[in-house]
Amino acid sequence: MSATIIDGRAIAQRIRGEIAVEVEAFMAAGGRAPGLATVLVGEDPGSVIYVTGKQRACREAGMEAFDRRLPAEATFEAVAEELHALREDPAVSGILLQLRVPAHLDGGALTALISPEKDVDGLTPVNAGLLSLGRPGLRPATPLGVMELLADTGVALEGAEAVVVGRSNLFGKPMAQMLLAANATVTTAHSRTRDLAATCARADVLVVAAGRPRMIGREHVKPGAVVIDVGINRIAPEEAGNRSGLVGDVDFDVVVELASAITPVPGGVGPMTIAMLIRTTLYAARYQANVGSLLGGVRLEEA
Ligand code: NDP
Repeated sequence: MSATIIDGRAIAQRIRGEIAVEVEAFMAAGGRAPGLATVLVGEDPGSVIYVTGKQRACREAGMEAFDRRLPAEATFEAVAEELHALREDPAVSGILLQLRVPAHLDGGALTALISPEKDVDGLTPVNAGLLSLGRPGLRPATPLGVMELLADTGVALEGAEAVVVGRSNLFGKPMAQMLLAANATVTTAHSRTRDLAATCARADVLVVAAGRPRMIGREHVKPGAVVIDVGINRIAPEEAGNRSGLVGDVDFDVVVELASAITPVPGGVGPMTIAMLIRTTLYAARYQANVGSLLGGVRLEEA
């Protein structure tokens, strides 16, 4: 049996189209164009590509995009000043500090300076706390994207065994909390997990974000599981078998024969991250304009 390949590009494209329609409606009702400001410190080539993609997606959805770049040697105070200016700017609905920042800066401390209502990455202590309490708030884009992909596959999360490999603040922890909120039975695995294969092989839904090329093989996957590969690793193109040289954390060619559904890399989770980011920016703009009661994908009345 070969798994269904979850087409993240197509799903993200559909959602981006829906967002564009919602942006138009928001503006037709008198709202100002939602605006996303990205802040990039330094010139890490991967980060430049991400930021450029986010800027383009915003414009395509009819939103404004503000591109703030600081040199790699920028001081904490200089970045803080930029974040403060964006916080005060009414044209800016969402602020995203592109991580990782250069080593001399404390990314966590800088993130905490973003105002919670503009924190479209959902990484400030306020939004992370709201997620953990099951309260409405702005949610991080990548785990939100995974939840959308799971919804699209139609997998029943209630009561399901879900295993998340990775416990970063950026992805693993919020992912586990979103799965828990969907009533899955959630296990978080990490580098000290004693028997990773046995832990993963329990999963009906396996979500992997460790940053280790093709670490998940046959022994980690229960036949019929849904496997979501968040990892993005760059290796030699000839080894990757594609021109981009990108591979995930899952050994796709092996696992595709076992799983019931699987995301490819590239073309799985990656495109969803941008779609969710711009959707969250729209929600932030609505919230700031006091129209609708949406914040971060959760209806306040449902809370
Ligand atoms: P981090 O490096 O912050 O976290 C990696 C996590 O994986 C840690 O919790 C670590 O455990 C765990 N881990 C590492 N090695 C192993 C192992 N051998 N066995 C079990 N667990 C392990 O990475 P991120 O969470 O930021 O990102 C993870 C991956 O996801 C990366 O490839 C990144 O590029 C990708 N990513 C993709 C996104 C997208 O849009 N598609 C967005 C965000 C990330 P410990 O805590 O014990 O060290």
